[in-house]
Amino acid sequence: MPPQDDKSEQQGPKDYTCLMSGDPQKTFYLETFGCQMNVHDSEKVIGTLVQQGYRQVETVEQAGLILYNTCSIRDKAEQKVFHRLADYKKLQAQGKRFGVLGCVAQQEGEKIFERAPHVSLVCGSASYRKLPEILAQLESVATNAASFRSAALSAAGLRANIGGVIPSEAAFQEERGISRGAEPAPAEIVRDSQLVRITGLDDRQTDECFETEFTARSNPHRGYITIIEGCDKFCAYCVVPFTRGKERSRTSDSVLAEARQMADLGYTEIQLLGQNVNSYKDPAGKRSFAELLAAVGEVPGIRRVRFTTSHPRDFGRDIVEAIDAVFTLCDHVHLPVQTGSTRLLDAMQRLYTREQYLERIAWIKAARRHISITTDVIVGFPGETEADLAETLSLLEEVGYDGVFSFKYSPRPNTPAVAFEDAIPDQEKARRLEVLMTKQKEIQIARCQKYIGTVCEVMVEGHNSARGQWVGRTSQNKTLNFKAPHGLVPALGSYVPVLVTGSFPNSLAGELVV
Ligand code: SAM
Ligand code: SF4
Repeated sequence: MPPQDDKSEQQGPKDYTCLMSGDPQKTFYLETFGCQMNVHDSEKVIGTLVQQGYRQVETVEQAGLILYNTCSIRDKAEQKVFHRLADYKKLQAQGKRFGVLGCVAQQEGEKIFERAPHVSLVCGSASYRKLPEILAQLESVATNAASFRSAALSAAGLRANIGGVIPSEAAFQEERGISRGAEPAPAEIVRDSQLVRITGLDDRQTDECFETEFTARSNPHRGYITIIEGCDKFCAYCVVPFTRGKERSRTSDSVLAEARQMADLGYTEIQLLGQNVNSYKDPAGKRSFAELLAAVGEVPGIRRVRFTTSHPRDFGRDIVEAIDAVFTLCDHVHLPVQTGSTRLLDAMQRLYTREQYLERIAWIKAARRHISITTDVIVGFPGETEADLAETLSLLEEVGYDGVFSFKYSPRPNTPAVAFEDAIPDQEKARRLEVLMTKQKEIQIARCQKYIGTVCEVMVEGHNSARGQWVGRTSQNKTLNFKAPHGLVPALGSYVPVLVTGSFPNSLAGELVV
């Protein structure tokens, strides 16, 4: 893994979105679907493209290269990209190139070329560090598709195909020591000298992270830093280990160098990212996750540090101790539980019980600071009974979550749960979701009311002119909309005290303290 060198430290990341390429053909449009990790991956992809002489444009019509950074965590998310590709297929006649990046790219591989033959590039996130080479290939192939057939790309670990074979999911599973049944038949690849097909799909076993000094962060005050990529946990329902590859961490020195660069550029809030951010293992063995968290919090200029997502199994007391000890670490932990039933946790292969989860919640609640707690829940997992659902509802009550992201279980390719019996019909999943959300709404109303009369420091994130309100965010990650006295204009990115005067299920309302 390349450490960030001195040069990059002095220069720091720049706002690459404003750089202009001299070549009007080298324009790109990028749309991102899915989680914060995808959003941040896109920031790095944009930075890389701009560094390669491309210019970002606002619309598909203006772009020479159209990219979709995709999500396949649930079926709905996956379908979005195919709708987009169908919508804009006709633009291929104007010579535009299409690329699919991210989780759908990795999951579907070269099958995407069959379903959407106008796509030229399919690249999973584990291959992003090869993007400069991939882009160079795309450009050279675009100008000479016929001579490309014999291009020797394998040395770079890339495959450029006018004809090829789907990377075998079964082979990947075998490599990772898991058996997932029959391998899908190799796809029939269209042979057409007009079609350009480049793949970056073969890197899921890499130990390297996508580190770049070219990150096009769009917000000048708060920014993401990925500290760990991939996942080795293989929950029974989840595609992430298949799409993002093996778990790998950056060195803590490299993370800290990036945090210092961001602070030098004026960022005051940093959010550390990972599918399981607290499974972090410093390859250099210098710092634990909690130590890294504390060290980022101590970087001069940084006022807030967030981290997501934490896996309950790897959640140690030391994280709570770090939050208590380092003032800049935010009062918020996102700890997905998925279900309150130990029986179902076992079926999901979550590797903890309800009791173990609640033990971690007890640590968080015992902190000196008031730490808000949010979670993810899946309803309608195969075999979920009314009793299981009741256990989830009682867990919501027992923990008293400040927020819950709840999802209907979506069967995903390659995962063990797809073959489980006792599937729950979609209508019933929808009913259970409704029950869960109604319960959680009651809990949130009560929790938000407790803030009334208190003063919270917020970072000013925006202004809602229709309502005449400023939008702020508290350390507990609550949205706090507030009014300021006439003529007083709080600067975006500044930190101001706000008296909470009202509450809603998902937000607070208040007045600037002057
Ligand atoms: N690594 C985190 C963890 O284990 O808690 C979660 C990351 S996952 C990308 C985000 C959330 O998506 C999960 O917590 C889960 O609730 C949801 N999710 C994942 N697979 C799903 C599926 N097949 N159907 C419905 N929701 C799913
Ligand atoms: Fe998916 Fe489980 Fe890994 Fe989270 S821990 S990313 S839910 S496999």
